[in-house]
Amino acid sequence: MLSKPHGNKLIKRILLGERKKEVEEKVDEYIKITLDKELVKDARNIARGIFSPIEGFMNKLEIETVVGEMHLPSGVAWTIPIILDVTKEKADKIEVGEHVLLIDEEDKNIALLFVEDKFLFDKRKIAQNVYGTLDESHPGVIEMLRKKDFFLGGRIELIDDSREPFPEFNLDPRETRVLFREKGWNTVVAFQTRNPIHRAHEYIQRCALEVVDGLFINPLMGRKKSGDFRDGIILESYKKMMTDFYPNDRVVMSILPTRMHYAGPREAIHHAIMRKNFGCTHIVIGRDHAGVGKFYGTFDAQKMFEKFPDIGIEPLKFEHSFYCKKCEAVATVKTCRHSDADRVKPSGTVIREMISKKKFPPLEIMRKEISEILTSFDNPFVE
Ligand SMILES: [Zn+2]
Repeated sequence: MLSKPHGNKLIKRILLGERKKEVEEKVDEYIKITLDKELVKDARNIARGIFSPIEGFMNKLEIETVVGEMHLPSGVAWTIPIILDVTKEKADKIEVGEHVLLIDEEDKNIALLFVEDKFLFDKRKIAQNVYGTLDESHPGVIEMLRKKDFFLGGRIELIDDSREPFPEFNLDPRETRVLFREKGWNTVVAFQTRNPIHRAHEYIQRCALEVVDGLFINPLMGRKKSGDFRDGIILESYKKMMTDFYPNDRVVMSILPTRMHYAGPREAIHHAIMRKNFGCTHIVIGRDHAGVGKFYGTFDAQKMFEKFPDIGIEPLKFEHSFYCKKCEAVATVKTCRHSDADRVKPSGTVIREMISKKKFPPLEIMRKEISEILTSFDNPFVE
């Protein structure tokens, strides 16, 4: 049995047919709020059910219970606040109880928001609770503190259900559920990634595939740091694995357009909830999942699941894997008795350096077929 949607309700808030026409005919009557690229993704994720049971941007009570107690007022687990921030000037023009139009930076109509709440919230409290620190060198903290002062809460209705930039790999939870059922899968493991595949990740995916029916590769695509691999290259590397190495009909790939918060343990729960909505029964949680710098302990994300025994998706907790020269195999500390000196670990920095010089990383780290793809791009990295 695939997982039930989180909160037992798969949300769909997409305007269609007559109602869509009606709204589009009077767009000029609404006050407009411009969303940045990440807020546009939030709006789509809400409307398409990826954030189920959330139906809109959070009101004050929702943010309070999520930030303070890691659940929604209904008692359903939720760890990351979904916030729409506006300036005081904008907030002053908007009345609770009216509809406003959410547009993107190119003035495209994205969604209609029914304003249920307009409020101030202590951003430092959010940062402290969600990220566990007020240190401004934490990328999530600085993003939170820079938010505009007023927040708007309320349900949305999506106008623009665009699947760009990778429409053939951008399925919503209804579609993945149909696909998983067609394949006859009862258990599906989600693999969260932000990188092209290397041998250590392949090892974990194969281990997971030994015990469940299907693998759901779900690269997260949102705002990136300079030096990260470009989104398209990550997809190309996995396409190669699916056509040349993994068996037919045991792997599905689709993207998850959303940003990283680097909230460590809280974000691991958030990642699990989104994959539960796609129908997954399991999710790979490694060491340092969604971490950054030294802000979290290496097992904090894995341990967080002990606080959510009823979350409805099972974490598969993995160690870092490496190639052991003595074992002559990819292994982890759970399966290899040798010392660090015998182990070749996949370092992101080393892989990036070699690829940028058009050199292939060692075969123990990365398959030649994947290195070929990564070095075939003139500019594989985000600037
Ligand atoms: Zn060994």
